[in-house]
Amino acid sequence: MTFTVAIIGRPNVGKSTLFNRLVGKKLALVDDQPGVTRDRREGEARLGDLTFTAIDTAGLEDADGASLAGRMRQQTEAAIQDADAIIFVIDARAGVTPIDRHFAGLVRRAGKPVVLLANKAESRAVGLQTYEAFGLGLGDPVPISAEHGEGLSDFYDALLQALPEHTALPEEPFEDEERDGDEEGDDVVRPLRIAIVGRPNAGKSTLINRLLGEERLLVGPEAGITRDSIGINWEWRGRPVKLFDTAGMRKRAKVEDKLEKLSIADGLRAVRFAEVVVLLLDATIPFEKQDLAILGLVEKEGRALVIAVNKWDLVAGEPGKFKQMVADAERLMSNVKGALVVPVSALTGEGLDKMLEACFKASEIWSKRVSTAQLNKWLTRILEHHPPPAVSGRRIKIRYMTQVKARPPHFALFGNQMDGLPDSYVRYLINGLREAFDLPGTPIRMSLRTPE
Ligand code: GDP
Ligand code: GDP
Repeated sequence: MTFTVAIIGRPNVGKSTLFNRLVGKKLALVDDQPGVTRDRREGEARLGDLTFTAIDTAGLEDADGASLAGRMRQQTEAAIQDADAIIFVIDARAGVTPIDRHFAGLVRRAGKPVVLLANKAESRAVGLQTYEAFGLGLGDPVPISAEHGEGLSDFYDALLQALPEHTALPEEPFEDEERDGDEEGDDVVRPLRIAIVGRPNAGKSTLINRLLGEERLLVGPEAGITRDSIGINWEWRGRPVKLFDTAGMRKRAKVEDKLEKLSIADGLRAVRFAEVVVLLLDATIPFEKQDLAILGLVEKEGRALVIAVNKWDLVAGEPGKFKQMVADAERLMSNVKGALVVPVSALTGEGLDKMLEACFKASEIWSKRVSTAQLNKWLTRILEHHPPPAVSGRRIKIRYMTQVKARPPHFALFGNQMDGLPDSYVRYLINGLREAFDLPGTPIRMSLRTPE
């Protein structure tokens, strides 16, 4: 089933840029000539493995005449009417303007699923100074950069939630240990998206080939393995998996014309589109600079993490090696503490089942939701025993906590003068949450909010 999404927002927030990115072709031509009345544009859009029809409402500001506002409103309303879901775009740099509020009103009244995008937030430079954005009543803003292609995985997740029910991701898709072969259930279970990343020579290609069976990868759809432009669809123990391979694809591209050449940026792209990232280390030279850079990326993009220590066959005899690896991992991954460390050998196949088990476990934790009641019971106890410090004589009063999002877990903390809360205290809370609610191996987000 195809569904239609309207891109709505005031002029200049980046709607056309986003439309171009989603549709891929330069369909939404930039036309600087005043007086050119453009009807809305539609195109077949793609985001990760989602395809949908996108309606762009940009360009209306070019229409001349006194009834511009009226025309814009009319066109916007028509697009909203025709859409199954709405992407509402604001400019994260400019903040929320009265015109944004006006458009948001139209969107709210339509009562359709909405994804709120805070655009122009490249490098997360803008942070989430988006209290105002929450005030639009369209849910949590997702920071993205349409121009630079950042934040797309969060956008993907948000859009997934906004899809019509039968295509939406089930709350706990991987709960069942054993599939019962029920045909109907099958298309509800979305594949677990796993990216295998690591520096050159870590063994990524060997690992992927080992997982899939060397021959099958290149010859195609045998045994349910298929490739599309983004990844490899595969099954592990009856559970659908989508693998995002990086360097390996590039190598094979040299020998196989059929496979498109991929750029360096694909490692990054793989992380963005995956739910779980497997950082593949080389046991003989673990935690090199590039590995740490990947860790940083996993944290920044909010993915679940599994660490696979490859070439274990070469070091397995060394006493204390594993303990040492786990200790190093803990020390180096302060923001994704507790990720499972799995020794593997892509060469012999040893440990690969454990690695995949760890991926499913990590995705479960990453998707976890903690009830507001539990959170606040915990918070009350913490505040009693270790209240936030006074900052320049001001007492900060924390009142309430709730989980606003999963995948990764994202909590919001409400109180007075929250912008004065020291980072160290926020980290203390995050570490506490990780312990109390068993959230290892996933980045944890925390938004601080002071209600108006
Ligand atoms: P529209 O009127 O909403 O369709 O906005 P456009 O797509 O025409 O973009 C308006 C301006 O914002 C253009 O100059 C874009 O290059 C710029 N822009 C769009 N997206 C981004 C972004 O992610 N970051 C930055 N810095 N600028 C952007
Ligand atoms: P990539 O660049 O990450 O795709 O790495 P490759 O898969 O090309 O592997 C780099 C080298 O490491 C090759 O010579 C592999 O044979 C070797 N290698 C990969 N996995 C293992 C392993 O588990 N054990 C050993 N001993 N060598 C491995």
